[in-house]
Amino acid sequence: MSTCSKLSVLAMVAIIASGWVVTPSARAATEDCIQCKHVDCIKGLIKQKTAMAAGYDALAQKWDPLVKVEGAPSDTVNFNTITDPAQRTNFYRDLLAKLKVLATQENELASTVGPPPGCGELSLEASTDTYATCKVDEASVTRAQNQAPCKQIAALIAKHENLHRNSCMNRKRTPGNTSPWKPDDWPYSVPAIMQTPAGHAREEAAAYRMEIGELKVLLPKAQAKCKLSFTGVTTSCTIPMPGAGSIEMGQDISGKVCGDPLTATWTINTISWVKGPYIGVSRNVDPPFDDDCVAKDSTEEARRAQILSAGPGAGWMCVYDERTPTKVIIRSFRLKQCSPHSEQTFVRDAARSECDDDIPAPPPTTPTTDVPVS
Ligand SMILES: [Zn+2]
Repeated sequence: MSTCSKLSVLAMVAIIASGWVVTPSARAATEDCIQCKHVDCIKGLIKQKTAMAAGYDALAQKWDPLVKVEGAPSDTVNFNTITDPAQRTNFYRDLLAKLKVLATQENELASTVGPPPGCGELSLEASTDTYATCKVDEASVTRAQNQAPCKQIAALIAKHENLHRNSCMNRKRTPGNTSPWKPDDWPYSVPAIMQTPAGHAREEAAAYRMEIGELKVLLPKAQAKCKLSFTGVTTSCTIPMPGAGSIEMGQDISGKVCGDPLTATWTINTISWVKGPYIGVSRNVDPPFDDDCVAKDSTEEARRAQILSAGPGAGWMCVYDERTPTKVIIRSFRLKQCSPHSEQTFVRDAARSECDDDIPAPPPTTPTTDVPVS
């Protein structure tokens, strides 16, 4: 996504454009970004815009020494402060040439950074005239917004361009800008105050950072809509009954959580079962209960494992592994009377869906055999 302003100076400066593939769709108007399915795109946009802002910082640094006003870097030039008309026109022409070079560098930056990962094929370009008219190119904004995956991202496109527009309007309203002037051999008068390449680059960096700030507010809201679930865990314990075979018991475990798997409350469903001679199989659907998951390899995981393995009673704990694909690990510590009584460890893929969707938990991704932990 490259939203960019163009310094359109009587069509002398090339229009900024980059060549990402366009997939037109007008879903942006109604689609809410606060959904789990947009999390990857929001993350991708933050990453991409962070790179764009850093690139523009570098361009600003590069250009600062190249256009100086009274010996110092400046965001703007006021042509009315140059009294000699020939010198003033030369300065203007020179600045136009430099802005043309900057436009090329902006295109290079956009293609180096590339499109945002996780958003599919997407090109979100819009432009604003930041010198002569301060007008946002509404057609380009609409075009870009139609390609946005959802409405809050679409709104950011307009907000980015409005930042350029407002800054242009502020320059126009600056007292020193009241008298436009006409360069020699030029058909029109032009505004007295113009952005320097460094000033333009700094404004782009600021516009991208404004977007990053908004996206970072959006991200946790969308993440809160993510439901993670697992199923296909069956703990078991076999207790030998001298002279009467053995009795086997255990739990089928499934669980789900909305929001951050490490801080939000998980809802756990269990079916307790017992199997044995004379009694056959008895299964009991237990009431759902709240639980938490601890981070894999955390000190809390180690602490709980230590307590559970040392204790006299059986118990299990939930461990969350956030590396992709995300996994839920159920570590079951068995009673000493169980044969065997080693720890059972179940590693299951966590399925991701929208919290609002009440879709059934996915089938187990691996056989429910246990992985003994020595
Ligand atoms: Zn811009």
